[in-house]
Amino acid sequence: MRMLNRYLSQNIASESLLDEEAKESPERLGEHSWPSPSFPDVSSEPEDLGSLTPEELIRRLRGVTRLISHYEALRLDAEMAIVDLYQKDFGDMGLAMDGAEAELRAALMLTRRAANMELALAEILRERLPSVLESLRSGSIDRRRATVIANKTLHLPEADARELCAEVLPIASGMTTGQLKAWIDRRCIEHNPTEAKDRFKEARTIRGVFAELADDGTATLTATGLMPDKVVNFMDRLTQTAFAFKTAEEPRTRDQIRADIFEDIMTGEDATKGRSRKAIADIRISLTTLMGLDDKAIELSGFGPVIADIGRGVAARGIEAGNAEWRFTVKDKSGRAVTGLTQRRPSAKLRRTVEARDESCIFPGCRAPATNCDLDHRIPYSEGGLTHEDQLVPLCRHDHVIRHNGWSHQPNPDGSHTWTSPIGLTHTTARAP
Ligand SMILES: [Zn+2]
Repeated sequence: MRMLNRYLSQNIASESLLDEEAKESPERLGEHSWPSPSFPDVSSEPEDLGSLTPEELIRRLRGVTRLISHYEALRLDAEMAIVDLYQKDFGDMGLAMDGAEAELRAALMLTRRAANMELALAEILRERLPSVLESLRSGSIDRRRATVIANKTLHLPEADARELCAEVLPIASGMTTGQLKAWIDRRCIEHNPTEAKDRFKEARTIRGVFAELADDGTATLTATGLMPDKVVNFMDRLTQTAFAFKTAEEPRTRDQIRADIFEDIMTGEDATKGRSRKAIADIRISLTTLMGLDDKAIELSGFGPVIADIGRGVAARGIEAGNAEWRFTVKDKSGRAVTGLTQRRPSAKLRRTVEARDESCIFPGCRAPATNCDLDHRIPYSEGGLTHEDQLVPLCRHDHVIRHNGWSHQPNPDGSHTWTSPIGLTHTTARAP
């Protein structure tokens, strides 16, 4: 433990959140016998966690999380050491990986698939992305983030993948895994639009629909390789129709209604026709990309970044076509929305302005698109809050309920929001990257 302590205090980046917190109140850390500002001494358990303040508890939670990340790196080291032993005997890397896989299955009682995934991650991190392994070791990212980075950069040449890691690692802990995936996708599209286009084309050629029986006797239907713009439209139509069905007397959940409508569509009935408003989907695109001057990634609201062709294709087919209405938000160089080009209902202008400014729910890490959110008054209307764009923010239904259960939020000049929880903790969140 002492060695680990020394390791962590030497290696954890000084800009880390934990160190910042430690600088603010080192005496508090001392009181609770945490040997290092960077992680708690979990060897001297049990400690009465109930006696900690909310701040101390959160710091402890982060410290323990950091320790787990460190040990995850040690496990990957050990797994690769087994591969090395086999390689010494067999010479061949493929045979060594097979041998080590069998060892892991026997030693840790893993399925073949689990052992295979363990080793794949261990190998990628050690051989291809050592900076990610070191970030895991220092606890600045966790295993889930390391796995996302490893998987999402597999299609890149090694040098490109390493370059991407150098950019993303310093900011990865400030993103959820969903945001991290979107960040990497966008970055890949923008760095090599041709490769992104080729991968898209390739994936389209292996599109298909697959059905399987689940353990409980129900069936699961999966379609892959579909056009993302069509899927966004379809999902919005399902959701809108489900909203229309969901009256006070309706016992089914929205998910259940969506599944029922989908089943009907498979058998030739389409309840979405005439019942829902037109599906409205948002596309965020830069003017230069819309004009075909470059191939920056475009954003399908609530879905993530996709190749530019999708956005231009939708524009070419017409903003209102068939069951869909597309709304374009043009972004300036810094990525901020400058204008919404089309608006169907002038009465929704205010909502549109807010949606263009805040792309998604403003709760930390939430990516629910603003178009599906409630607009929340910063100061309640009943307390004199104005219905003005500066006073309104999008919150998804779930986080809207949370907000009314004791959380509050304040805007910051840079567009971020500071949330205060019912137990007095604050969390400042950047705009979704
Ligand atoms: Zn939310």
